[in-house]
Amino acid sequence: MGRGLRTAAVEWLVLSRLRTYASFVRFSHSVFALPFALVGVVYASYVAPVTIVKLVLVIVAFTAARFAAMGFNRIVDRATDALNPRTKDREIPAGRLSVAQATGAVVVASAVLVASAALLNPLCLALAPLAAAGLISCDDAVVVAADGCVLATGYSREGSPHDHAEEAAIAKLDPADPRLGAATLYSSLEPCRFRASRPRPSAALIIAAGLRRVVIAWLEPPVFAPGGGAELLRETGIAVVEVPGLAAQARAINAAVLGE
Ligand SMILES: [Zn+2]
Repeated sequence: MGRGLRTAAVEWLVLSRLRTYASFVRFSHSVFALPFALVGVVYASYVAPVTIVKLVLVIVAFTAARFAAMGFNRIVDRATDALNPRTKDREIPAGRLSVAQATGAVVVASAVLVASAALLNPLCLALAPLAAAGLISCDDAVVVAADGCVLATGYSREGSPHDHAEEAAIAKLDPADPRLGAATLYSSLEPCRFRASRPRPSAALIIAAGLRRVVIAWLEPPVFAPGGGAELLRETGIAVVEVPGLAAQARAINAAVLGE
């Protein structure tokens, strides 16, 4: 093989690996989430001058935080992703990235986040873990009695990386509470029907808890495979209400997590 050809082959290999890592966290979508970070820069400019260097550091820190958070989600969700027709071709379940490679990428992204935050100022450094965690957490659930009394709340990964919001909320309910039959579970996302990390998916937990009404902010057909949690709930006679007016907000929070 000629020297030029060998260099081209190496370049092609490196580029194709970079493309795999970029696709792993839907890197190109960072651009759509960036306005949220830049709004913060605008606010900061009221109290301190914003330099080009600071602007670049903010963009680097934000992109690294999103990479680390999304990579973490992909690693945690790999077994579920493998079962879902829509997500089974993602890098880890499809075998294009090993868990070790994905973990390595998340560690590097976390280091870049910490370094760029440290270069910005001590407060940014202190808040860096919170920024990454905020991008990880995606779903909230609240169980409300007919009289408006909040019976329980929960959020994704509340107690462990595998916790779902609905499950975290339902775990706090008293199974003997007579108000459950008339209570409503509000969730920002559709309760899951299939999961690998726990014996029972959220939809089954809702049915078992005796809840009769579920309100979801965002139920988008292409994201959730047909025959998802909402359909299972409806088959069981539970009223499932979607609030399209809130879909944009639920979608914005979950854009990074869902890889949209
Ligand atoms: Zn779930």
